[in-house]
Amino acid sequence: MTLKSTDDKGLQTLAIHAGETPDPGSGASAPNLVMSSTFVVDEEVSFSANNMTSETPFIYTRWNNPTTQQLEQKLATLEAAEAGVAFASGMAASAAVLLAHLSQGDHLIISNTNYPGTAEFARETLTRLGIEVSPVDTSDLAEIESALRDNTRMVWIETPSNPLLRITDISAAAELAHARQALLVVDSTFASPVATRPLSLGADLVLHSLTKYIGGHGDAMGGSVCGKQSLIGPLRGEALVHYGGVISPFNAWLIMRGMATLPLRMRCHADNALAVAQFLESHERVERVLYPGLESHPQHALAAAQMDNYSGMISFRTADPAAVAERMMQRLEVIHYAVSLGHHRSLVYLMQTGDLINSSYRLEGAELDKYRGLAGDGVFRLSIGLEDAADLIRDLDQVL
Ligand code: PLP
Repeated sequence: MTLKSTDDKGLQTLAIHAGETPDPGSGASAPNLVMSSTFVVDEEVSFSANNMTSETPFIYTRWNNPTTQQLEQKLATLEAAEAGVAFASGMAASAAVLLAHLSQGDHLIISNTNYPGTAEFARETLTRLGIEVSPVDTSDLAEIESALRDNTRMVWIETPSNPLLRITDISAAAELAHARQALLVVDSTFASPVATRPLSLGADLVLHSLTKYIGGHGDAMGGSVCGKQSLIGPLRGEALVHYGGVISPFNAWLIMRGMATLPLRMRCHADNALAVAQFLESHERVERVLYPGLESHPQHALAAAQMDNYSGMISFRTADPAAVAERMMQRLEVIHYAVSLGHHRSLVYLMQTGDLINSSYRLEGAELDKYRGLAGDGVFRLSIGLEDAADLIRDLDQVL
């Protein structure tokens, strides 16, 4: 019992069935969890990652594993990709893409505000290795265009971006990158494949922290990259086998279980988030709300065109954010004051402007003014979970 074709199936069916088959030995309906690190073979198999092909049998879990392979196939199907590869975390996936597809002397254009780990990796590690890095506001296509150079090999966007929920036009960014033979990579963690499928909009690689919406329950870390086999192959050989950031099969199994309900969860995340965003927008102590589903979002029209679901991430600003954060830590009943996002539990965290600018983004001049114009001294990054919206609103009301 395997899906004969995925082309004619809806997203809910694919989220449940793609990549999975009942176990041929026992008939088990749920995927088997194969924790074995090594596999018995009945033929000589090369010990080199350089000789690995799609025909190579399972030999060692750092190369490939049956449970992980099922997760990778499910991810690739949901992203409408030829191939997918899973990693131990979103950062392992990001580092793999940046290191395996860029070399000394190459030039990278990257969003100037995005997940801080990626921002720091690009500005510190890549430049130390002789890769030139230009951080720009990729939501402004003119900034991408003027940063392109003859040696630009990759444009990296995050949409919606952390923490200001800026939206980048994926099709337009792909056109700009491809005109210079550069790859367009999209970190689509905030969107999930339910909201946006970047490959069908022209991106070359799509990346996720599986720790967030895709796993969805805050109990397993993972990362993934999907795209053409010719771009995924080097990631598996070089990054997975040699850098070694392989996902535990147990985490792959948990994340696969989470994925079965991804389309249902994303609907609830988005419905709840819109209700909370509207409440915040009407609250006298809230100075600014950023949510792609609100008409007041500076790029609401682009979000409506590019996203099938506005997801569950809201950023908002208040006066005296440090005092509000203190009240949140002391008094929140339902929402956890904690980093991360995309879980069934709602999470909130103050993203302090000074900290982000000094340690991760290092913005100056007009870009710094633009950031401060939206974020002030800091924004609360609110990841709306699956609780009742009325309870989330009550919880926020008593701390604002
Ligand atoms: N990309 C984005 C947009 C993220 O928000 C995160 C983590 O918060 C990552 C990548 C890194 O993922 P992980 O924490 O799984 O390494």
